[in-house]
Amino acid sequence: MTVSAHQDLSTILEKGQADIESAQTSRELEAVRVALLGKQGSVTTQLKQIGSLPAEERSAFGAAVNRIRSELTSALEARGLAIQAEEAEAAIAAQRVDVTLPGRGRRTGALHPITRTLRRIEKIFSRAGFDIAHGPEIEDDFHNFEALNIPKNHPARAMHDTFYVSPSTVLRTHTSPVQIRYLETHQPPLQVIAPGRVYRCDSDVTHTPMFHQVEGLAVDKDVSFADLKGVLIFFLQEFFERDLPVRFRPSFFPFTEPSAEVDMGCVFCEGEGCRICGHTGWLEVLGCGMVHPAVFDQVGIDNEAYTGYAFGLGIERLAMLRYGVNDLRTFFENEIRFLEQFA
Ligand SMILES: [Zn+2]
Repeated sequence: MTVSAHQDLSTILEKGQADIESAQTSRELEAVRVALLGKQGSVTTQLKQIGSLPAEERSAFGAAVNRIRSELTSALEARGLAIQAEEAEAAIAAQRVDVTLPGRGRRTGALHPITRTLRRIEKIFSRAGFDIAHGPEIEDDFHNFEALNIPKNHPARAMHDTFYVSPSTVLRTHTSPVQIRYLETHQPPLQVIAPGRVYRCDSDVTHTPMFHQVEGLAVDKDVSFADLKGVLIFFLQEFFERDLPVRFRPSFFPFTEPSAEVDMGCVFCEGEGCRICGHTGWLEVLGCGMVHPAVFDQVGIDNEAYTGYAFGLGIERLAMLRYGVNDLRTFFENEIRFLEQFA
């Protein structure tokens, strides 16, 4: 064997061993293996040269190449095992769960303040013996206006800022049409409230295009205005959990006669007068009255035999007063920091 061939082999061996030791990952090690023992690898290239050597040198050269091949193969295996162990350890460390960390906890949701107020209203009226009814939000002209004694061209229609779906169909402007639907399908005596969404083209600090009302209706023989007063005073005192003064002022609604607006003593200043009550000491909270005989005519109830009262209150208005909210629109902006206060 020539001296230079021998030197080549020991260089290949030393460089190969150094490369194997410096490989840090399975991938790097595989690259080293290919560079040494692959088809174009440096060791393989030496083996291919055997045929070109003089016959007397072939045996010794071949033995020397095979020896470094087997040395490098063992070194590759040993390094491979070491890298596998390191990688397995790293994978375990990466997936380790620290069971001593404090838990992240789970945040629970909460009911929207309007829903809370609505449920509270329903609970109080249920205790007073009222059923709960619902009606469609897309309503026909008859139920929304005509049957409630608001004929076409009646000035009250202009006050409603109605969203028309078609000339004869509207987004209901109040929950009063549920009164009509309920009277069409039930016989007195009856006591019912109808909560739900209503719509008007109006938007400012105290108006949103969609808001909620609760309609109340009671029909029986000998129902009087005194019964109406009793129920509303009971409701307001239960709702605000205090002994509030309540007063009734004459007013006008097409579907009640007589009609009244109801004020209660200001819950912020206890009647002293403040900015919220306009320094009057009173807050207007709802409208009511005795069912107009013309409404009974529309649904075929004998208005000589029966009387009834009706009232309508705004849920947002009550929620604003109960929670001290001064801008109605905040209820519908989905601002999480606002809503979290009611959790
Ligand atoms: Zn006040």
